Amino acid sequence: MPYTFEDRIKLVEDRIMKACERSGRRRNEVQIIAVTKYVSLDMTKSALEHGFHHLGENRWQDAQEKWETISEQVDSEADNQPIWHFIGSLQSNKVKDVIGKFTYMHSLDRLSLAEAIDKRASQLGITVPCFIQVNVSGENTKQGISPEELVPFVAQLSRCKSINPIGLMTMAPFEAEPEQTRPVFKALRELRDEMQKKSEHGSTITQLSMGMSNDFEVAIEEGATWIRLGTILVGKEEE
Ligand SMILES: *Cc1c(COP(=O)(O)O)cnc(C)c1O
Repeated sequence: MPYTFEDRIKLVEDRIMKACERSGRRRNEVQIIAVTKYVSLDMTKSALEHGFHHLGENRWQDAQEKWETISEQVDSEADNQPIWHFIGSLQSNKVKDVIGKFTYMHSLDRLSLAEAIDKRASQLGITVPCFIQVNVSGENTKQGISPEELVPFVAQLSRCKSINPIGLMTMAPFEAEPEQTRPVFKALRELRDEMQKKSEHGSTITQLSMGMSNDFEVAIEEGATWIRLGTILVGKEEE
């Protein structure tokens, strides 16, 4: 890594500020999830110590040790409580591992998963804030429901009382020129706006989880409320 963590934080913060200025948004409209899936327990703790409370992981197998150690070590009264975000695709049989430990789910993409989450959450007496993952780009390799399926999917979700659908999530294809991702992020924002208009009392789906190391500035300009930063922020450690 060419920079120290402090340098990278400054650099990322500066780019976020500028993207907010360009698009007339306030800095506090955009929250950072530090994606720690590529880094060690120590680096994950360091992220927390530097004020990144929102931690993202995409596989329970990789996250387990970090989750358990950090949960044991952080004083429940301390103000650097981690808030875990599950950002990977989740098999229904792994729901029991994740729900109750991860606060937010970013990858809700099918009814069977929603039902499994709902069942587990109601056993635990909790409500799970979820992002619905939409495959805007239509790439076969990307998870997520198609934009056309969104409205019927949300209607079906209403029977899952322990799920609170709070937003939409997408991943743009990797582009050497990040500007090329703009149509994907714009489309996700428009989907959210349409859902707001259609819903009589306003939909609960207000947030947008979009933008990663390569394309977060474009995502912010298009309305991201959560950006998910791995490599550029906490780094990527070779195995
Ligand atoms: C890995 C991952 C990220 C972070 O990726 P970087 O490009 O390293 O910032 C964000 N979102 C999801 C869903 C991921 O799997």
